[in-house]
Amino acid sequence: MRKKVIAGNWKMNKNLEESQKLATELVNIIKDEINNNAQIVICAPFTSLYAISSIIKGSKIALGAQNCYTKNSGAYTGEISTEMLKSVGVSYVIIGHSERREYFTESNAFLAEKINAVLAHDMTPIFCCGETLSQREQGIHIDFVNAQLSESLFHLSDSDIQKVVIAYEPIWAIGTGVTASTAQAQEMHELIRKHIASKYGNDIAEKIIIQYGGSMKPENAKELLSCKDVDGGLIGGASLKARDFVDIIKNA
Ligand code: PEP
Repeated sequence: MRKKVIAGNWKMNKNLEESQKLATELVNIIKDEINNNAQIVICAPFTSLYAISSIIKGSKIALGAQNCYTKNSGAYTGEISTEMLKSVGVSYVIIGHSERREYFTESNAFLAEKINAVLAHDMTPIFCCGETLSQREQGIHIDFVNAQLSESLFHLSDSDIQKVVIAYEPIWAIGTGVTASTAQAQEMHELIRKHIASKYGNDIAEKIIIQYGGSMKPENAKELLSCKDVDGGLIGGASLKARDFVDIIKNA
């Protein structure tokens, strides 16, 4: 039985004070209201990570970052290494979010290096993949997502691939209010698992956690999270309100 992983991606929202307030609210509500065994993660801005790590200590929440660089240290002005993230208590790192692919032109090959950097520090990468609306309309979405997976993940060993969480995030559903139907989500998750099985075999593919991301909210979380191959959610907008995020986690 795969564990459900529910991760909040705060994106470039919440200054230090706002982050501390939201993290404190989450700790308190989750303590009172969540009794399932979902892994909860909050992926906060870099500037809030250190402060949040002490707020969530001893709670059910793990700390995540939204990005990292490939090198450990050196003359890379403005970048943050996985070693630095680990040192402030981070255990999950989002890799290849569609916003980074689009605005920062991150390629599949570069993301493969980031995956290696995260795994090298014993943290869990949350690897994002997903197609645009136009790719779906042209019927090339399955090949596109499979190529994202092959080019960024398929160099990994049998043991390392099992440490990766995959987030299927159709770009047309991110921040748009449009959610994939349960049939669309289940179909893509099953195909992603099949693609992994084609390289690593069924036993390994069955163990991989595949989250859905794209306008998940309390109203649609139950049906999405009950799909056979949907093992959690990567949540943007709805993770910025403690009440909404917790109401999603309740369905895990
Ligand atoms: C995301 O950014 O990963 C995301 C899924 O955003 P939203 O939930 O706002 O669509």
